[in-house]
Amino acid sequence: MPRTPASRTPSSEPAPPADTVDVVIIGGGVAGLAAAHHLTRAGATVAVLEAADRVGGRATTEELDGFRLDRGSQLLVSSYPELSRTPALGDLTLRPFAPGICLHNGRRAQRIGAVRSTRVALATARALSRASARPSPRTGVRIPSLPGPRLPSPGGPLGPSPRLPSLATSRLPGLGTSRLPGLATARFPGLGTSRLPALRVPQGTQRASRSASGPGRDQPVHDVLSPRAAALRPLLTALLGDPTLQGSSLGAALTLRAFATGRLCLPAGGAASVPELLAASLPPGTVRTSVRAVSVSTTLVTTSDQRQLRCRAALVATGARDAAELLPGLRVPDFHPVTMLHHTADTALSYPQAQDAALFLPTEGPVAYSYVASAVDPSRTPPGKSLITTAVLGSAATLPAGALDKTVRPQLERLYGTGTDGWRLLAAHHDPYAVPAMPAPHDPLRSVRVLAGLYVCGDHRDTGTVQGALRSGRRAARALLSDFGIPAPDDSPRALSDAA
Ligand SMILES: Cc1cc2nc3c(=O)[nH]c(=O)nc-3n(C[C@H](O)[C@H](O)[C@H](O)COP(=O)(O)OP(=O)(O)OC[C@H]3O[C@@H](n4cnc5c(N)ncnc54)[C@H](O)[C@@H]3O)c2cc1C
Repeated sequence: MPRTPASRTPSSEPAPPADTVDVVIIGGGVAGLAAAHHLTRAGATVAVLEAADRVGGRATTEELDGFRLDRGSQLLVSSYPELSRTPALGDLTLRPFAPGICLHNGRRAQRIGAVRSTRVALATARALSRASARPSPRTGVRIPSLPGPRLPSPGGPLGPSPRLPSLATSRLPGLGTSRLPGLATARFPGLGTSRLPALRVPQGTQRASRSASGPGRDQPVHDVLSPRAAALRPLLTALLGDPTLQGSSLGAALTLRAFATGRLCLPAGGAASVPELLAASLPPGTVRTSVRAVSVSTTLVTTSDQRQLRCRAALVATGARDAAELLPGLRVPDFHPVTMLHHTADTALSYPQAQDAALFLPTEGPVAYSYVASAVDPSRTPPGKSLITTAVLGSAATLPAGALDKTVRPQLERLYGTGTDGWRLLAAHHDPYAVPAMPAPHDPLRSVRVLAGLYVCGDHRDTGTVQGALRSGRRAARALLSDFGIPAPDDSPRALSDAA
């Protein structure tokens, strides 16, 4: 394995796949591609084997009649630290939702503006951290509250740069908020992130979250969420994919902090933008699609067509279930099923919410959240069309598409204040293994080293989010490089912003 970054000759022709590489990565989802990115930056030769015919795993986007439809709905928060710690994502364009959230109790909507929801989110995150930091009955050790993440530095890869043009435009385009019918709280302050309270850097966040995750410290969110923070339940459900909020309060605290210090966004063009940018950063020929690995050891990976790839180390970057097939004994978590529904209206929708880039969060009913994707990210639709994306969690998510469509329409009509007869269901994507459950106590920094030369990453080693998948990939790459005595590139935010 080289100790200095390999010189890359730009070439439009993919190099012929070699049968011996430094590292074979099994799985071309966000985690595997992030690991490949960090390893190739350190000079390693890498082969990424992806069973599907394209990269991305759960973060893929389908094209249909000019629509770009996510298989999952990748709600990102601009302050997710890994977005700015992954140089390949420097060109990622994020389309922000309107600040705040729009709660709907089945009768009317309540707009919670940016400042209020930020304050409540921060207060709740602190309370959750404190609850998690109560003296352990076992040891009596007090775990410090988790510090919050820093806002992306201005001008940094994901800072409020020209790549995020609509961050500055946080007011509803062309609409006075008072014209939104049925909103109990029509005022919508529309503050940009620059006015959010400055927070300190999360020095030791990872250490704190790890040490705080022992038994008796981390608790189910549901048990420790105060009644005052009830408004944030639907938001947490949406961000964690956890309908009963039985998951880790520490994970919830970190997610809420990210929400409070950043902006809720969609990747421009669809979820696939994230893995596509990662894949594009790799030397030609690194990613091999339609190749399924069937066995793995520290030095050899065998594929379903009986090809063998020799390597000096292997990294299993599949979802948890596939990882356990390849690495027997690996713990398989429970999962939260999710179904994503994509509707379009044949004509441009005329009611006010159609232009409203808000996240709509019902407080009851099968719909967990819904948004007018064409308002948040117009590049997902052909001109003049609207795209409404809806997530259903829990047992309702397991209904067949037609039945689910019928079930959610009355709720969508109440949510958007309009009939849906003219709406057409474009696609329904059901994933029974969408998000790994994170019951408390949850260790978001689960070990990525199986043994020296064999590693595992993926959202199941961290948190069930794109942020967690990216971080697990970076951790695995660093563990591998460390085992081989190779210095990892400095990927601290400061070093990356200096290099930009
Ligand atoms: C419906 C849905 C909604 C979601 N919503 C959000 C959200 O709002 N925000 C958020 O942050 N996250 C969300 N997520 C979660 C997020 O998508 C995942 O956490 C992340 O994409 C996981 O990436 P990964 O690389 O760990 O795994 P995966 O994406 O599962 O990638 C694993 C890859 O390994 C490949 N593979 C498996 N077995 C083999 C084999 N034997 N050989 C070769 N290749 C193999 C698979 O084909 C796949 O491409 C959602 C997920 C879903 C499904």
